[in-house]
Amino acid sequence: MASAQETRTAVEYDGVTKRFDADDGPVVAVDDLDITVRDGEFLVLVGPSGCGKSTTLRLLAGLEEVTEGEVRVGDDVVNDAKPKDRDIAMVFQNYALYPHKTVEENMRFGLEMTTALDDAEIDQRVFEAAEMLSINELLDRRPDALSGGQKQRVALGRAIVREPSVFLMDEPLSNLDAKLRTEMRTELQQLHEQLSVATVYVTHDQTEAMTMGDRIAVLNDGELQQLGTPLECYHEPANRFVAGFIGSPSMNFFELDYDARSGVGSTDGVEYAFTDAQADRIGKATGVTLGVRPEDIELATEAGPDTVEGTVEVVEPMGRENLIHLDVGGTELVASVAGEYDIDFGQTVRLRFPRDRVHVFDGDTGAAVF
Ligand code: ATP
Repeated sequence: MASAQETRTAVEYDGVTKRFDADDGPVVAVDDLDITVRDGEFLVLVGPSGCGKSTTLRLLAGLEEVTEGEVRVGDDVVNDAKPKDRDIAMVFQNYALYPHKTVEENMRFGLEMTTALDDAEIDQRVFEAAEMLSINELLDRRPDALSGGQKQRVALGRAIVREPSVFLMDEPLSNLDAKLRTEMRTELQQLHEQLSVATVYVTHDQTEAMTMGDRIAVLNDGELQQLGTPLECYHEPANRFVAGFIGSPSMNFFELDYDARSGVGSTDGVEYAFTDAQADRIGKATGVTLGVRPEDIELATEAGPDTVEGTVEVVEPMGRENLIHLDVGGTELVASVAGEYDIDFGQTVRLRFPRDRVHVFDGDTGAAVF
């Protein structure tokens, strides 16, 4: 049984909607959102550009006003609270450091402005955070003498010294080069382990979401699509959007006409026979979307109820595996196949979509059937 500690709520969005009045009419940036962030949890808000991630975070930070619903931090409704009174600390993508202050002054400033801590306590917090982030050698420097990664650490340090009950991070690694970004990901995770403070982290990068989140909230068009662990979202996507967004390379989709009597779905180049149990779940639908992940596709030697044929267009050797791009009856398909095969452009190959791995989505709503 989960302990009270684990289930305590750090943040709650309860029916939260945010509407903007843009010049060309109203925009619903966040639509009736329900999300709970548990104490100590690392929750990632992920979705494509414009889906409402930043707005969701800014509503929690108090940088935007809620149109409808309630935002809570701990037990307090914070809809009308000033940002500084919300017991949160935010780390921005552009670091937002004061250019004329030293690293130490940048880290101290927020504390001096918003808390009644005495100098010795502030020294202590700045020292500890600087140690934790390995920036103690840089305390006298100004931001323009720091690398991107160092600036990011200072921005983190400034948040850590506040000892907030929630950290908010808006794409904090997006200005770093790929290698540094991967390193900082690991560091942020270690930091989170150490501090165990609830964190809401925004990214558009599904790999970042998958590797960092205890749970991820997938947003599209201002609406929550799924809230679950990375593996839940990967293995049991709630709908076609999540299925296509989570996982790289993306899941392949086929729009099939479905014959409920035979349990067979078909389109150009595909005739896929579902098992009886699968057909029971599909029921009387006349159209379904079949989804199969590139890594679940196998090369097959013989035709079967779960095989299709495709023409090879491109082979990308990736080391341990090959990414094969194929044309299956006019639909583009990507298969990721491990091992060394002699596969050439233009060749016809047979592929198996294993029946215990495929996904099916409602042809109209996109909701997962299985
Ligand atoms: P990105 O990854 O590109 O930053 P996002 O997922 O963070 O995108 P938001 O910035 O939250 O998305 O924007 C959500 C929607 O709200 C978009 O359609 C955006 O144009 C709109 N929006 C955001 N801020 C405002 C504003 N101040 N006035 C009008 N519309 C806004």
